[in-house]
Amino acid sequence: MNTIFAGMADLESGWVWLAGAGPGDPGLVSLLTLKALQQADVVVYDALVGQGVLDMAGEQAVLEFAGKRGGQPSAKQADISGRLVQHAMSGKKVLRLKGGDPFVFGRGGEEARHLVEAKIPFRVVPGITAGIGGLAYAGIPVTDRHTNSAVTFLTGHGEDGGLSKDIDWDALAKSSPVIVVYMALSRIKQMTEQFLRSGRRPDEAVAVISKASTPDQRVLETTLARAAEDVAKAKMVAPAMIVLGENTKLRAGLDWQGAMAGRILDADLSGIIPQGKVPPKGC
Ligand code: SAH
Repeated sequence: MNTIFAGMADLESGWVWLAGAGPGDPGLVSLLTLKALQQADVVVYDALVGQGVLDMAGEQAVLEFAGKRGGQPSAKQADISGRLVQHAMSGKKVLRLKGGDPFVFGRGGEEARHLVEAKIPFRVVPGITAGIGGLAYAGIPVTDRHTNSAVTFLTGHGEDGGLSKDIDWDALAKSSPVIVVYMALSRIKQMTEQFLRSGRRPDEAVAVISKASTPDQRVLETTLARAAEDVAKAKMVAPAMIVLGENTKLRAGLDWQGAMAGRILDADLSGIIPQGKVPPKGC
């Protein structure tokens, strides 16, 4: 079966583009998302989409906020999907803009399914997810052959307000050298205690990245045992990612934003990477 190469397609009347806005920095928006911003009649956007990105919308675009903050997510989600369908059916060029990537913890799949049901033509435009791009802005490679050849993306929110019950925490703790947690700030105590119970070391390196790639970005370096207390002390705010693993230590040598502000980067990794550890070839 042939796939159609998107190229620099136009956002057409009656279509919905479900697009990612990246983690915040407008420069991280893809060319296709930028094009959709310039062509859309209506932009239905989430709370995590930064003002700098919205500022790139064309003058004709009506900006509609569709943020979900607590409350009854399922009812509101249906409202949002219904709105997208209505706009498209009335012949508008619709951009549905979500923070990061629409298919990463963003309910993008649910919205797309509603469009399919309503027979609305749509396109998905991936974005840079906070769990990769946000880490990069903190100077933390999500993988590095010296520290981890696997990574797990995890949500801190289970369905009933606690941690996810469908996760085998012991297996996860044992098998994934790096764990990148979305939406974890409110559950940080529960989560760090769970990882300790599941066998992760109390002195394991942890980084917490708040408002990544925005002018308010802050990064806290701590340990698994101290993370919850340090986050409270430092008054770290959402949206934030929590990263567990040795890769976070690489920040000492890679904090490029810090370097722009005068931080001297540590070029010698020997203190970070265990001596004698031979990285696997080819990754
Ligand atoms: N679709 C988004 C994720 C939505 S879930 C994406 O791909 O990035 C919302 C969570 O994403 C937040 O609770 C936070 O954990 C994370 N997040 C989104 N933007 C962020 C940012 N700029 N800095 C830090 N974390 C962010």
